[in-house]
Amino acid sequence: MSDMPERRMIDMLHTNATVDRRDLVSLRELIRGRTLHPGDEGFEEAGSGWLLTVEHRPAVVVVAADADDVAAAVRFAAEAGFPVAVQSTGHGKSVPADGAVFIATGQLRELSVDPRARTARIGAGLRWGEVLAAAAEHGLAPLCGSSAQVGVMGYLTGGGLPLTGRTYGFAADHVRSLDIVTADGLLRTVSPAQEPDLFWAVRGGKSNFGVVVAAEIELLPLRTVYGGELWYPGEDPTHAAHVLGSYLAWAKEQPEEMSSSVTLMRLPDAPQLPEEFRGRSFIQIRVVYTGGEEQGARLVEPLRALGPEDKDNCAALPYTQITEIYQDPRNPVSAHLRSALLRELDDEAVAELVSFIDPSNSGGPFPGIELRHLGGALNRPPGRPHAVSTQGAAFHLWLRMPAPAERAEAARTAADEVLERLRPWDTGAMLPGFLFDHDSAPERVRRAYTEASHQRLSTLKATYDPNQLFRINHNIPPSGPGTS
Ligand SMILES: Cc1cc2nc3c(=O)[nH]c(=O)nc-3n(C[C@H](O)[C@H](O)[C@H](O)COP(=O)(O)OP(=O)(O)OC[C@H]3O[C@@H](n4cnc5c(N)ncnc54)[C@H](O)[C@@H]3O)c2cc1C
Repeated sequence: MSDMPERRMIDMLHTNATVDRRDLVSLRELIRGRTLHPGDEGFEEAGSGWLLTVEHRPAVVVVAADADDVAAAVRFAAEAGFPVAVQSTGHGKSVPADGAVFIATGQLRELSVDPRARTARIGAGLRWGEVLAAAAEHGLAPLCGSSAQVGVMGYLTGGGLPLTGRTYGFAADHVRSLDIVTADGLLRTVSPAQEPDLFWAVRGGKSNFGVVVAAEIELLPLRTVYGGELWYPGEDPTHAAHVLGSYLAWAKEQPEEMSSSVTLMRLPDAPQLPEEFRGRSFIQIRVVYTGGEEQGARLVEPLRALGPEDKDNCAALPYTQITEIYQDPRNPVSAHLRSALLRELDDEAVAELVSFIDPSNSGGPFPGIELRHLGGALNRPPGRPHAVSTQGAAFHLWLRMPAPAERAEAARTAADEVLERLRPWDTGAMLPGFLFDHDSAPERVRRAYTEASHQRLSTLKATYDPNQLFRINHNIPPSGPGTS
């Protein structure tokens, strides 16, 4: 930290027992970046983000310019008794950051690639699209997920389920070190050699252990993949069951180089949709193959034989275009997002899933019931252990229900119904990276970890954040000696 803010901070903390608005305003003097208060221009915007269903009303927003700003904000909050919230893009909002010191990381824009070491150093304000582009200049690739807009640090601290996950495992497996500001305001570098317990915990523990300001990750020598999407008509339940059942049988036989997903869709008859999609049901299969074009095309042949509607764009494509296979929405959305980890799916599961997109059934629309195929490297212990695990699941289910204010309750009810009807195949486990606002209760957060990992995380929370400074998140309460 530079001298001036540090000294000012210490003076301030020694002279103020309680904090009032004047003290909050004085936080501005500690911060090189911007400090925004309710009513300030930019306050609303800095605290908003991609997922519109959660609204934050922080006490103050700190738009950090560097790691020193993050440390100063954390120390200020700790001394003054404010919780700390951290946000990059707002794709993974969980708990409203009301009354918090809200650290916006968007200006932490460090990005460098070491082509010889095949690594990248990435600041907490970067999105995957930016890292994809920088790595590609050297023929290298990061393990990103389906959206180029998702923030690097929210994704990595949630484990990171990449589109090539069956080949390479979780993105967290490929993190070499993290720079993190912990609740004591210290900036630490954690790695397998330095504070390995904390390094383990942050990869999966999200913001429970501090604010990550930068990460060093491994890159892969991957210029192209074979991939794309195939769409099948989904209105006829017999045909839909045949397509889905055939996909599941196909997926089981695939080598680890093949990662894939299937999405069931029953779209509303809405004028904003292109005419050919209105009121229709589809099954959409997406594939990403890391083993070469020729072999990829051969492996996809059985899916082509199932007769996709004219949309089949599987081909060799530059790795920089990998997220275009998914085409996640770029603009902010009001959505109700839910997830689950499922075991192997049998014929009864197929019938249940297909019933959601059968137009003769009531309910819906169900525009996005996605099943991502797990296994391969995802289900093996990682080389650099972390707190994330599929817990042996075969598929990751992700439900995305549009939830504008007037449909919010209906979206929740519909999502509840899907999950209830799939309960026989639900392992009860979840991935930390796919917890959203519905999942903030401790019993739901617990599902994202094995019992042993949750216990270890709680013990480490008691060491690194016993006073729960970082509680505006999917919270892991501290446990162990000295906690109740
Ligand atoms: C459209 C979409 C597609 C997605 N695709 C995938 C996918 O393919 N694979 C996958 O694994 N996940 C995926 N996700 C989930 C995504 O990884 C999480 O929602 C992630 O938390 C988003 O991170 P963010 O920084 O963009 O969001 P934010 O809302 O800014 O952050 C979410 C949370 O991450 C934590 N966090 C953020 N920054 C920091 C930091 N610097 N230090 C410590 N903690 C921090 C905080 O707890 C914060 O509340 C997707 C999400 C969406 C909405």
